[in-house]
Amino acid sequence: MQHPTQHPPDAEDRRAVSPVICYPTQSLPTPDMALRSARRAAAQKVSQVTVPPRQGRTFEVPAGGFFRITSIDGPQVGDLNLWNLHDHSERFYSGKTRALHGTHITTGQQMWSSFPTLRPMATVLEDTLNWYGIDPFGGSVHDVIGTRCDPYTHALLSGGDQYHHCCHSNLSRAYADHAGVAPQDAEKYVHDVLNVFMCTGFTRDTGQYFMKQSPVRPGDYIEFVAEIPLLGALSACPGGDCGSEHSSDKTPCFPLLVEVFSSDDPWQEPAKNGYNRSHGR
Ligand SMILES: [Zn+2]
Repeated sequence: MQHPTQHPPDAEDRRAVSPVICYPTQSLPTPDMALRSARRAAAQKVSQVTVPPRQGRTFEVPAGGFFRITSIDGPQVGDLNLWNLHDHSERFYSGKTRALHGTHITTGQQMWSSFPTLRPMATVLEDTLNWYGIDPFGGSVHDVIGTRCDPYTHALLSGGDQYHHCCHSNLSRAYADHAGVAPQDAEKYVHDVLNVFMCTGFTRDTGQYFMKQSPVRPGDYIEFVAEIPLLGALSACPGGDCGSEHSSDKTPCFPLLVEVFSSDDPWQEPAKNGYNRSHGR
């Protein structure tokens, strides 16, 4: 173990330097929320799927359509993956979304896609938990800091226990069923998630990732605009409300409802990213 190095004489001065926001969001294009709300008012429900506890399900949303995720029956968090319906190499990029918007997202913020497209895939239109803000522990709701619970980390930390209903496996089976492939082939398409309804943060003293009981209650929902045509996959996490543990069947778990709405009005998809991809050559 490395021992702490000696403090330089100006240590406190160096610590006292003010932080600078990495990506000033004033230059980030702002979605026209009034336009999106007007489209939503004229939209019709076209499908729905109920995600059973400790399972995953997929759903499709047309460009300019909407999808709503609702907690039903009991408090439950969900792990969300998104792909371009027509090109699954374009997928949700949780890390860049975090860098642009912060550790948690809510109304008016967007889920960004991977390189080289880097464009909005979905915009949060409504969030019944946006009253929560940031609590005294530094916790907030709908995070882009967690990855997803998975059987590999669980095996590592438990001495080899085999648990098959982590969100990574639930999403892998859901994608496998959609694509007609084996879960082992599906899992390479599964990526870091938006943790819907999950309440998380980093401890102030040790910087560790924490979760706490979600404030979600049955009837709460988060609704998104599909900026491009989407394939979505949602897992009802084995952690339930994530107030105690995950990666087991010990916690009470509940279903999640996904409803999809469509509008006939014309829709302009966001353009792919403007970088020319020459990388200087
Ligand atoms: Zn999970």
